[in-house]
Amino acid sequence: MTRQCLFCPNPVDSAEHIGSDWILEDLKQSVDIKITIGKSGSIWIDSPEVLIKCVCKTCNNGWMSELENANKFPIHAMINNEPCGLTKRDQNKLARWAVMKAMVLDSCNPARRPFYVEAERENLKSSSIVPARTLVWIGQFSAKGFHFGGTDIWGEIEKIAKASHGCVTSMDIGHLVMQVLSVHVISQFAQQNVNIGCRMGDWRNSLLDIFPVTDSLRWPPNVTFT
Ligand SMILES: [Zn+2]
Repeated sequence: MTRQCLFCPNPVDSAEHIGSDWILEDLKQSVDIKITIGKSGSIWIDSPEVLIKCVCKTCNNGWMSELENANKFPIHAMINNEPCGLTKRDQNKLARWAVMKAMVLDSCNPARRPFYVEAERENLKSSSIVPARTLVWIGQFSAKGFHFGGTDIWGEIEKIAKASHGCVTSMDIGHLVMQVLSVHVISQFAQQNVNIGCRMGDWRNSLLDIFPVTDSLRWPPNVTFT
């Protein structure tokens, strides 16, 4: 059976680099080639050269490539540890890029169905809408690395176990650390405001919130990950 593109009804006929070509250039000598597919529910990728076959050429060469290009400047700076300012508009674009990568990574775990549903993927593509109940943070890593990872988490709401299901995607690209958290809740809580923040301790100082966007900010944050 021909698989359908993650973002549209076309058949899959293209592969997306988990680390884009221009990121590969930036990281050239600094990474090992290693892939780890973890236990059910988790997936980790340690190579920027991994290609994930999950999209069509129209998407890959169209809106996905435009989104890459729109974010090249700040991502290139942060990968190389150059301080940079991010306007609200920059943060919005960067968050959409991070969610796009999270969706691609999410699709390649053979152990489970993708977390992001078709409507969420389609909305990101067609209307630039980030899924509801999504948070995106960025930070600074002291060494230059490459690592993409995804993990599922479940939470309790009003004493109902597993009432929320979250997908956490972590990305270390050069000196840039990004984290995306998206949460789905069971239907009885769908209309409610659910607190999905889960940062504790030093994470408050080491990560900057870029989505939902609040104000312009400067990278790096006060505290660096080591
Ligand atoms: Zn497509």
